[in-house]
Formats: sequence, structure tokens, C-alpha cells
Amino acid sequence: MKGVYHNLDIIYSQLNADYFQNQIQTSVTWGKWGSSRRQTYSIRLGSYDASRRLITIHPAMDQASVPRICVSRIVYHEMLHQKHPVRHKNGRRLVHTAIFREDEKIFLGAELADQWFQQNLERILRHRPIHLKNWTNVLTV
Ligand SMILES: [Zn+2]
Repeated sequence: MKGVYHNLDIIYSQLNADYFQNQIQTSVTWGKWGSSRRQTYSIRLGSYDASRRLITIHPAMDQASVPRICVSRIVYHEMLHQKHPVRHKNGRRLVHTAIFREDEKIFLGAELADQWFQQNLERILRHRPIHLKNWTNVLTV
């Protein structure tokens, strides 16, 4: 799905070729603004819905100031969720297993991307697209 600044389909296809031998089969889409307000306490930049084979990326990532490698970093993580499905062991859900984390390290630039998130995450989440800013103004009058 094409955003304003980042095209998720292109990012996804490239990752699939580079890291997964094109074995991953999901769709990838931008999340919607508005539903993200309740996520103040646990920010999720991406999610994977196994039943719908759908990766959703937080719309705050679609900004000119967000490096493409950071968008890739999140899409890559969500693609790993298809490669390593949730397992159940003794009633526990195993999601980010040791092997998942090992695979996550293979991504080139992971450390740089994570560093960038540490320094910029709050700023990009404060951002709102212009049309939503206007909308908020109308509501508070
Ligand atoms: Zn995850």
C-alpha cells in the first residue's frame, strides 16, 4: 500500500526477496489515524494478524523524516511473525522466541534503526497529518 512518503508494497517485496526467498505471503497496509490514541502506553509500530495474513504499520511511520530503513525494520519484524508462528507450550504463548530474535538480528541496519527509534519515537508519534490537525481544532472550539 502506497503511503505519502513510503511505499509498503515495495519495501515488503524487497525484504521478501532479500531475506525470505519470497516465501512470505501477507498483505501489508497502513493503519489508520485515530485508533492509535489508546496506544499511549504500549506503542505498537506494527502488528501481524495471522488469520488475515495482514501486516499493519502505524501511520506515524509515513513521514518524510522517517528513514526507509526504519520502516523496513518494522515490516521485517512483522514478516518474521509469519515465519515463526505463535506456539503454545504449557499454556504459555511463545511469540518472540529465541530463534525469532536470532532471525531479527540478521536484518542489516537493525541496530541503527533501533537507535533512531530511541531518539525519535516520541517526536514521530506527536505528528498528526494536517487534515487531522484541522479536525481537532474544530472539535475543541
Ligand atoms: Zn513482534
